[in-house]
Amino acid sequence: MHTQTLEQTEQGKGPKPESIRTRCNELIKILEQVLSSSVFNVNFRTIVSIPCEQCGTKIVRRVHHDQEAFIANCIECSASYNITETDNHQFNWKPLVREINCINESCNGSAQIWENDIKLGSQWECADCGGKNKFLLGIAYVSQPQNNSG
Ligand SMILES: [Zn+2]
Ligand SMILES: [Zn+2]
Repeated sequence: MHTQTLEQTEQGKGPKPESIRTRCNELIKILEQVLSSSVFNVNFRTIVSIPCEQCGTKIVRRVHHDQEAFIANCIECSASYNITETDNHQFNWKPLVREINCINESCNGSAQIWENDIKLGSQWECADCGGKNKFLLGIAYVSQPQNNSG
């Protein structure tokens, strides 16, 4: 096995350390160009995940670089979350729920209802009175009859 001596390098018979360094710089330049290109960024997404607050299922969501707010849905239940990016590139998960008062007149209870559950026929049990509330179509009395006798 022939090993190159320092003397041979100096005489120009082997690759000069300088040319190796130049080649490295070129590679770094190419790498930097690829890494900073928008094409690369599209594929390079952040992935955020949390356990669902309602059922515990892990919700995983990919995030594009230009996305600052979006909605993630649980695949197991009706829970959905509004996700916003903070200034230090963390993600805030806000459950999409509405507080709805119990319709029982003698009850002051209210419930956090997932927005995906707010639909006709959907019902929930009040934690305060144990009664059930249900979303139904209602009829509103919108005006009094006209009085023409005068
Ligand atoms: Zn869930
Ligand atoms: Zn109630």
